Amino acid sequence: MSASDLKIAVVGAGVVGATTAWELKKRYKNARIEIVADRFYEDTTSYVAAGIFRPGGSFCGPSDEITEKWMKDSYEYWDNLRKSKEGIKAGVIELSGYIFSSSFPQNVRNRFMEKVCPVYRAATKEELDLCPGDWKYGSYFTTLLTQTSFFIPWTINKFEQDGGLLKHQKIDSLEKLALDYDVVVNCSGLGAKFLCNDHHMVPIRGQVIKVKAPWIKTFFYGDVDTYILPGLDSVTLGGCRQYESWDLNFNKYDAMKIMDQCEAMVPSLRGAEVLGHKVGLRPHRSVVRVEKEIKSFDGKRVKIVHNYGHGGYGVTAAPGTSLRACNLVQEVLSGNSKL
Ligand SMILES: Cc1cc2nc3c(=O)[nH]c(=O)nc-3n(C[C@H](O)[C@H](O)[C@H](O)COP(=O)(O)OP(=O)(O)OC[C@H]3O[C@@H](n4cnc5c(N)ncnc54)[C@H](O)[C@@H]3O)c2cc1C
Repeated sequence: MSASDLKIAVVGAGVVGATTAWELKKRYKNARIEIVADRFYEDTTSYVAAGIFRPGGSFCGPSDEITEKWMKDSYEYWDNLRKSKEGIKAGVIELSGYIFSSSFPQNVRNRFMEKVCPVYRAATKEELDLCPGDWKYGSYFTTLLTQTSFFIPWTINKFEQDGGLLKHQKIDSLEKLALDYDVVVNCSGLGAKFLCNDHHMVPIRGQVIKVKAPWIKTFFYGDVDTYILPGLDSVTLGGCRQYESWDLNFNKYDAMKIMDQCEAMVPSLRGAEVLGHKVGLRPHRSVVRVEKEIKSFDGKRVKIVHNYGHGGYGVTAAPGTSLRACNLVQEVLSGNSKL
């Protein structure tokens, strides 16, 4: 098969699908590569994310070694993009801030970030007094933030300029779709629960408030899901984490709690203009699935590479898992797959 005969479908147009599709287009310049999705841009969960690079301690790949590699690759990818001349257009910035806790010393440590961030240190006594509250433990760190409302259009635009195609379609079977392609890459987020009948996939509902507060230049995290994250054109206030909730409606009680807890931590937020409220379902899986699968379907061998289940850390980890998924595509296409 010549490279120009190669046909690849990437299911999903969120941060994971967009990153994977663009990376595949760089590797297979002459192939026909399509992003197939029923929701694009602001209709994806990815648009709800604040986009900070901050994996939770529970974020998990198939082994510690692989998870650490995904983190290292991801940080490098975002940081290289930030430093490039397209960095701002792609929505990637560096920022610093604090995480405080009144009762849990382990909450202010992060085993992944301590390895990849340029600065991760204990907060000083004076810094613990920066925010009202009885803060006993704290860390200061420098990290990255990728605003998906910039990054996704930017990356999809690059993909299309290089000949990549977009297809609006809801699919009901990966296997059926794969009959028409050499390989299908499954970046369908929570959709994988149904497409793969994957009982390990669970929605974790989140709600955030976007406010205009350009004077906030530093991020803050507090106990019980409190966060204040300055992005390029707004500050994201959060949040909540509701396990197994499928509710995509705005909840005014969640909004009141978020506003109260953020204003208590950073009083200068009082009176900031509210730009909007957003709700999303984090596509959680205890182990993020980046795997190849070769199956028999309708008398043919179909090839699928999965890349889903990033939970609350999909922006953080999209590059690392996508690079791995692209390597698996290369393996299944070259016939090296032992499956
Ligand atoms: C409130 C909140 C705050 C967050 N903050 C952060 C943060 O600061 N940092 C961070 O790293 N992460 C954050 N996240 C997590 C992040 O948003 C997700 O991990 C990420 O968006 C997952 O991306 P995805 O591409 O896998 O899924 P999605 O963005 O949901 O995209 C899935 C795609 O698959 C398509 N699809 C699904 N099923 C089908 C089907 N049957 N047919 C066709 N297409 C289909 C959809 O149409 C869509 O295009 C946050 C999430 C929430 C809710």
